[in-house]
Formats: sequence, C-alpha cells, structure tokens
Amino acid sequence: MRPRLEALLPRRQSLAKEQADVGHEIRRLVSSSSTKGDGSTKSDKERDGEQLRRAQARARALKDDATSVAAEIEALNATSLRLRLKLPNTTHDDVPRGGESEARIVAVGGQPSLLADGPLRKAFDALRLPVTLSQAGLDGVASADPARDHVALLDEAGSQLLDTHASQLASGGSNWPYMRASLAKLEHALVQYALTAAVSQHGFSPCVVPDVVKRDILARTGFAPRDGGGGQVYWLTVDGDERPSAEEKDTDLCLAATAEIPLAGLCAGQLLENLEGHPRKLVAASHAFRAEAGARGADSRGLYRVHQFTKVELFVVCAGAESHAMLDALRGIQEHLVGQLGLPYRVLDMPTEELGASAHRKYDVEVWMPGRGRWGEVSSASNCTDYQARRLYLRHRSAASDGEAYAHTLNATAVAVPRLLVALVENSGVASDGRLRLPDVLRPFWLAPAPTAPA
Ligand code: AMP
Repeated sequence: MRPRLEALLPRRQSLAKEQADVGHEIRRLVSSSSTKGDGSTKSDKERDGEQLRRAQARARALKDDATSVAAEIEALNATSLRLRLKLPNTTHDDVPRGGESEARIVAVGGQPSLLADGPLRKAFDALRLPVTLSQAGLDGVASADPARDHVALLDEAGSQLLDTHASQLASGGSNWPYMRASLAKLEHALVQYALTAAVSQHGFSPCVVPDVVKRDILARTGFAPRDGGGGQVYWLTVDGDERPSAEEKDTDLCLAATAEIPLAGLCAGQLLENLEGHPRKLVAASHAFRAEAGARGADSRGLYRVHQFTKVELFVVCAGAESHAMLDALRGIQEHLVGQLGLPYRVLDMPTEELGASAHRKYDVEVWMPGRGRWGEVSSASNCTDYQARRLYLRHRSAASDGEAYAHTLNATAVAVPRLLVALVENSGVASDGRLRLPDVLRPFWLAPAPTAPA
C-alpha cells in the first residue's frame, strides 16, 4: 500500500501546481480579451477564444483528476488506519517476556519502616534488584489487617468523610463515592501538590481538558474501541424526543478514561517545529471515568476501584531519539512524588502481556496498602513511541532525518487520587481525634477554613 500512496502524494502535488498554472492562464486570457476591446482583429479574438476554451477544458480535466486522486488517498489512509488500529506497538528489547508475575522490580523506596516487622519487611530488606515479582517474595507474605482498612478507619473518623450511602441514592452504587470535609481537602491538596511539582519544578504547561472525547481519538490513542473495549468505557447517548432504538441513540462521544486521550487529541494533525531538545510537556488534572465492568471483591472495596476519580496526568511529545530517556525522567518524577508522601513503594518494569496496545515500555509504581494486605498500583508511565503519533498524524520537522518524522508520545500519572488516599490512610492511620494524618509535603496545599471575623 505504501508505494501506491508514495506515488499518489507527489501526483496530488503536481496536479495542484498544474491547476494553479492553468487558473493563472485563464485569468490572463480573460483579462487580455477585456482590455483589447474593439481594437483587435476577428482572427485575434478567435485565437484567444480558442485558447480560453482549451484552458478551461484542461482545468475541468485537472479538477476531475485531483478529485479522484484525493479520493484514492483518503481510501488508502482509511484502510491503513483500520489496519493500524488492530496492531499493538512494538516492544522494547529489555521488557520482560510474559505475564504479571514476570514484572521486574527495578526500584524500591519510601519508608520501609511502615511495612512493620515480619516476613514482608524481611523480604523487602533482602531484595537484590532487579528481580522478578515471582522471585521477590513480596506478595502473599502479609495478610490484610482489618484494623488498618481505609473504609473502617474513615468510618471511625466519622463525619461521613467517605459517603457511600449518599452515592447509592444519587449515583446508583458505592463505587461512585462522595468524599467530604478533610477527605475532600486531601484530594485537593494532592492535586495541587502534583500540579505544582509538574509546572514549577519540571516545566510542564498546565492544560484544562474536556472530559468528553470522540470515539475516533480514543481509538487512535490505542484505547480499545467499543467492541474490544471489555466494558471499560462509558459511551454517551442522546435522549431524543422520538425515543429511537438504543443503537440509534449512540453518539460518537464517550467519557475520557484518562486525560491522556484529550491531550493526545490536542496534538493531532500537528507538524511541530524545533522539537529536538525541546519536548512539549503538558499536564492536566481531570476526571477519569472507568466502567470497570466485572470488577468485584476486595479490589472494588472503598476507594480502590471506583468509576470516577481525579487524576493529574503528564503528557509529553518529543523527538524519537529522546523518548527512552524521557520515560526514565517521568518515572523519576513519579518516584519523587510518591516517595515524598512517605509511602513504601516499588517500581515495576511491566512485562509484554501487561503493556496494552500503545505502550512500547511501561513502568508501574505500586505502594503497600496494609488494610488490603497487598501492593496496589498508584501510577503508571508509558513510552508509546510513534504508535499514537502515526495514528494521530503528529509529526515534527526533524533535522536528524532531514525532513518530517513522527513524534514520540509518553504519558504518566502524577497523582491518581483515590489509591493514594487508600495508601495514606492505611499507612498513617487516623489520629485519635478523628483527624487525618497529613504528610508534611501536603501542608502548603491544605485548604484552610476562612478566618472568623473579629467580634
Ligand atoms: P491507568 O491510566 O489505567 O494506567 O491508571 C492510572 C492510575 O489510575 C493507576 O495507577 C491507578 O492509580 C489509578 N486507577 C486506575 N483505575 C482506577 C479505578 N477504577 N479507581 C481508582 N483508581 C484507578
């Protein structure tokens, strides 16, 4: 298909040039016949008229050719996109092969003292990195501690901090929780903490994005379209007057599962100048919507797996030669953000079967959640290389390849609020007066009550 397209693109260009030349010729003939007036002979007029008729016929033929070439290019592009949407990205040579247990622990940090003495702490202290999850002995060695379960602790803290009763009335389920008072403040503090780090320390440009995105952009960024989506995406329908069938009410819109999708959409179709050495870095705080069909059990208790949550997302467009180093830099930002909160964490180099369609390489950060007795993923960073860029037609003018090249895209969670709340509450507990314990780094971002007016 490529050679055909490669022949058609210059043909489209040469047709456009010829059309411009003929248009110019037609305008010249028309204006010369009007300025010559009655002074020209009959044979001059006949010759000019003949030339004009021939030029006009040529213009019509060129227009037909250009239309059919454009239709052919469009059809080839559509076929190419349809095929591309079925293909996953390539995989980095160093990515572990296999399923979840083959994930490789490449870093640990935070406060191991929070792991308490026992087999987990022993295994943690004995780690020699890198090591696969199956060899590390960090899973299944500690059991869930009901006294440190975040739902129970928040319940005890009272004041309906985590209100699942109201959400059952209003939203139809406990996985659409309301968070109130100090728990709501903790969400806002985490968001400001992450935005401030991204913008002020790491040079990201802040962006407010729509929560609603087109199905087409979803597919082009590598999120499974409806049929293969496994029930993860909320699709929007329009409630029309005439009550058409469910199928007819579908729109081509859905709720974004992550700000990565609208941020990628923002970059679609661009040809960027001067990208080498100047990556475009965007950050957005938004709601992420997940249908999570089929999720049940401990994973859907409390705040761990909810249908709507707030997430601060980092998105980077860079030149191809720079994306591997950029992934490491994003992972560094994530480790810093989680580590500063004091949470014991591990970083996993995710294996081939866990990469999804778009990632060439992906790191997950997991933190210890004692109430669950398990490590839980709180952040993830992916290098999508040119996978999304090819589908979004996102290019840059490259000095290295002396022409246009596809850019590379990366995305990384700065904070995904609910799971950090689970980890903070379960690791630090709640003070005896019911107050949430706050890591020092969040203090500058705590919403203070309005000062009371002097009497
Ligand atoms: P993902 O975009 O799927 O890589 O998820 C990014 C982060 O969002 C994860 O590391 C989790 O911390 C968080 N997350 C994903 N799904 C949910 C969910 N249903 N409820 C709460 N947090 C979630």
